[in-house]
Parts: sequence; C-alpha cells; structure tokens
Amino acid sequence: MVQFTTQLVHGVGVQDNGTGAVNPPIYNSSTYAFRSVDEAPRWDYARSGNPTREFLERQIAQLEHGFQGFAFSSGLAAIHAALSIFSPGDRIAVGANIYGGTYSQLHEYFDRWGLIVNPVDTQDLSAVARTLQLSGTKAVYVETLTNPLLQVNDIAALAGLAHRYGAILIVDNTFVTPYLQQPLDLGADIVLHSATKYLAGHSDVIAGLAVARNESLAHRLFFAQNRLGGVLAPNECDAVRRGMQTLALRMDRQQANAQTIAQYLLAHPLVSAVHYPGSTGQGLANLKSKGLSGAGGVLSFEVEQGIDPSVVVDNLHVFRLAVSLGAVESLAELPCRMTHFEIPREERLKLGISDELIRLAIGIEDVRDLLGDLEQAFAVAAQRQTAGVARAS
Ligand SMILES: *Cc1c(COP(=O)(O)O)cnc(C)c1O
Repeated sequence: MVQFTTQLVHGVGVQDNGTGAVNPPIYNSSTYAFRSVDEAPRWDYARSGNPTREFLERQIAQLEHGFQGFAFSSGLAAIHAALSIFSPGDRIAVGANIYGGTYSQLHEYFDRWGLIVNPVDTQDLSAVARTLQLSGTKAVYVETLTNPLLQVNDIAALAGLAHRYGAILIVDNTFVTPYLQQPLDLGADIVLHSATKYLAGHSDVIAGLAVARNESLAHRLFFAQNRLGGVLAPNECDAVRRGMQTLALRMDRQQANAQTIAQYLLAHPLVSAVHYPGSTGQGLANLKSKGLSGAGGVLSFEVEQGIDPSVVVDNLHVFRLAVSLGAVESLAELPCRMTHFEIPREERLKLGISDELIRLAIGIEDVRDLLGDLEQAFAVAAQRQTAGVARAS
C-alpha cells in the first residue's frame, strides 16, 4: 500500500467511464438510468450515493484506516448522523470541553430528543469510568485535542475504558486530521471531521465526514446519512478532495509556524499563559505517548490582567478576525465572545476558558509577518492600557 501523503494525492479510484481524466469527474446528476427494471445501476439516486462523493468517502476511509466513510453537508450534519444511531433514553459521556456547535446540538436538540448527555472531564479517566457505570451509557464522545485549551485526550485509554463497559468511542478528529493521528488505530469506533477546517483547508467549503470502524456501524451511519439526507453535494466533494491533496504540506507549515509563535508568546511580557501542546519538550513527549505525531496549527493564550484582549484581536491586520481554523490564512478570535458564547459564563470559566483567552488558528504565511502583526497589536493594547491608567489617576 502506498504511503499516507501519496494517498492524499491519489485516493482510491472510482470508475469514471474510462476517460483517463487525472481528476475524478464531478457528476452533476441527481438520478441514474436503469438499463431495465431488473438491472439497477451502481448508483441510482444521488442522495444514496454518487461517484464524486464515493471517491471522497473511500479516500477518508483509507486515510483513517476505517471500514467505510461518509460525506455530509457540514461537520454538524456528520455529528447529527453519528449521534442519531442511538435511541432516546441512551446515555452518552461527552468531553466537557467540546466545540460550541456540538455542545448546542447536544444540549438544545439531542436533550429534547431524549438522549441523556453527561459532560465529563476526559482528562480524568476515573471520572469517565464513573459515567460509564451509569445505566444505559452507550458511547463516549471526545475531540482529539480540546478546544480552545488544546488538552490532549488519550484515545487508546478512552477506547479501552469505553469497550470495557460495552460502549463505543466517537472521536471528533477535526483539529489534528489523520495526518497527525488515526484514532481508529487506537481503538476508536467512529471518527468525525468538520472537513471545513484542515481537510478542505481553504475556507471555501462547509463539509463533514464520518468514518466507521466496522460494517455494523457503517450500516447505521449509512442509514442516518441516507434518511436524514444531509449529504455533501458533488461540487463540494470535489473541493474537499482537492484541498486534501495538500493537507500534509499545509499542516507541516502550519505546525512550524505555530511552534515559532508559541515560543514568541511564551516569552512575551503581556502574555500570562500559552496553551499549545507542541511548545515544550514535555508537551511533545506527552503528545507522542498519546499517539499524536504533532500538535497541529491551533493555539490559544491569555493576556495579562488589564490588557484588553479585544483590543489585541481588533488591531491584527495579517490575522483575520474570524471563527474557524485549519485554512491557509491565519485567523484570530476571542472564544468568550465568538466561538464559546453558547456556554454559560460560569460554566465556561470552570472549563478554564477565561475572558482573557485568545485563540489563533495559524496559516501558511511567512511567520515573520505573523510575528510582526502580533507585536504591533500588543503595542496598541499596551498603549491603551497605559492611557486608561493615566485617565483613571
Ligand atoms: C467546526 C467544527 C465542527 C462543526 O463543523 P461545521 O463544518 O462547521 O458544521 C465540529 N467540530 C469541531 C472540532 C469543529 O472545529
């Protein structure tokens, strides 16, 4: 079998009428003709499947070492489909520090639907075990790295624990991609992606992917995909495929840039804390021990008391002030106001997401421009602070 980066470029071919096209064609057809009533075509109706989507679905299954992949119209549609394999009354243990949109889907939709959601600190394996002992717990749901504090979840340990209690492990692998970790190899049962982020990589498409470890889970995911109908359209499938071809190149640069920026922030007098597991030797050793080959391109940091974090992010010019991550351009955002505002403040503070926290999603620009941009924004924030103190006295 060819190596990972070659798989990114070539995928697994889908029959394309023998044209020799180097890229898989985009099939803009919602329906496919039968030869006769007894001879159904390979694909009959594009919600159930089509060659453009199948190319992407085979490729993500290959990259994640899974049995079968599924493409959805968004990351949240993939998550919805994965959680809908359960039944009202089932309980799932959910990492306490998860993506805001997933948090809302669980607490505003699946709550009402009858799924019992137990938030748990997934860094604390005994707390996870306690939740698994509650009756009806069918799954543990985590993200590889927590957002925005970048804590590293131990997928192998969580999978072992879930299986011991007859539950499955679902992993949202958006932040690291199969380039840095393949959770199914560590025992996870379903892997999810917001392909909107690193996989597509250019902030030009909303997409989700799911990969099942085995046939029975694949069967349930296919049912959810086909019956809920949140499928990814052929043009979008192709946008994700094309983005994925350069995933390794982009991620290498993003990680190198993130590494440099983390070192800069660690030494900065206006910064009180940096959250990036790849910034120290100890952090990297921790990553490796948990099966990750890198920390990815997202990091967060807290500014000193008295420095207004919104002044810092409002004055960045190379970094764009925007939610999302994983694309070629660098983005900055304020979690308490932009990505995590859905979580009540008291709960948010308990999770360690302070009002001073800034999240950076590092792109592939020249890192000198990113450092210069941060430096001048810090200077503006420091000047405002001094001016504020002068006015007050
Ligand atoms: C963005 C994101 C999602 C949601 O994906 P969409 O494509 O926006 O629907 C889910 N999980 C994580 C970790 C994300 O970053």
